[in-house]
Amino acid sequence: MAKFQVSKSISSLVPYKPGKPISETKREYQVDEIYKLASNENPMGVSNAVKQAIINAIDDLYRYPDPANFDLLQSLESAWGTAKALMTIGNGSNEIIDLLIRIFCEPGEFILTSEAAFVAYEVCAQGARVGVIKTPMTDDFKMDLKKMADILKNDPRKDQIKVVFIPNPNNPTGSYVNQKEVEEFLFVAAERSGLLVVFDEAYNEYVRASDYSSAQNQVGKNHQIAVVRTLSKAYGLAGLRVGVLAADQEVIDLVNRVRNPFNINSLAQVAAVAALQDKDYLKRSQELTWQGLDYFYQELTSMGLPYIPSQGNFVLFDTRRNVVEVNESLLKKGIILRPVLNYGLKTHLRMSVGLMTENRKAIQALKEVLGL
Ligand SMILES: *Cc1c(COP(=O)(O)O)cnc(C)c1O
Repeated sequence: MAKFQVSKSISSLVPYKPGKPISETKREYQVDEIYKLASNENPMGVSNAVKQAIINAIDDLYRYPDPANFDLLQSLESAWGTAKALMTIGNGSNEIIDLLIRIFCEPGEFILTSEAAFVAYEVCAQGARVGVIKTPMTDDFKMDLKKMADILKNDPRKDQIKVVFIPNPNNPTGSYVNQKEVEEFLFVAAERSGLLVVFDEAYNEYVRASDYSSAQNQVGKNHQIAVVRTLSKAYGLAGLRVGVLAADQEVIDLVNRVRNPFNINSLAQVAAVAALQDKDYLKRSQELTWQGLDYFYQELTSMGLPYIPSQGNFVLFDTRRNVVEVNESLLKKGIILRPVLNYGLKTHLRMSVGLMTENRKAIQALKEVLGL
């Protein structure tokens, strides 16, 4: 019997399950050498420019950070070309997702997204007592924007849908929706005044598909569009927690009212500035990812394992076996990949791109475990 009575949306909440930590795996499986390709982290490690910026800023740690994130917004404007007045910073993009739901949805209202979309939207919605409407994916694991548009037009709950989340590219599938699909969806969304359409572009930097278009260049033109970006992936700052929101001035003002004034610590601010200026790190990070993905595709093809072509820094593939058993055998070999059972996929594994040596270890272990 629970000692406290809380809302059912809280007590039934399935918490976010992160990739298995290296230390825990070492302990449980008694292996020394661990290869973690489970959390889409940047395998290149921390850039030297970032390390130096952090060292230089240490003596100021006794002071509160700049609540306006002035230098960081300036660097973002230079790096991405979006006006700084149309951006604000979150403690990771996760905080931004949380804030947008709390700001735009009353308890009992809805967000709209897809099955197998990044799970943070659902977790944050439940925490805010907000409902989630999800449309099925297409047969090739893509978000079905036509079905999502149908919901906006025809679902009996349509007027209570306040925010749409479109992760583009999506995690864990690595799939994307193209410019034409997005335009057609936005045409329908435009009929619904007061609706916010959020594009989560955490993997923006890795996209190679020629018919992809970032929604960020429409911020400032279409007030319904909000774009969430992160420095956790291509910029290699997952541990420091820096996410960015680009949106209409009114949306930015609302988020700035609600967010904690010191949500971005001072080391994260200076590190993010250094990371945005380190163009060489970003370029190498993209090249390493593309090389690793092409290697994975080639190996998975030769093993006869179906995979979803990815626009991220990871690939989702079908082991065609019980993934709990496969994963257990991989862990015994010190290889941490990511089962995605919480997305309803019972035979798939998600594998992040690592350094080439790590990629080869993972493929080697897979071959041994699967007997291929
Ligand atoms: C990794 C990821 C993020 C980034 O989250 P942070 O909180 O910024 O670290 C956001 N969205 C998606 C879809 C992701 O996969």
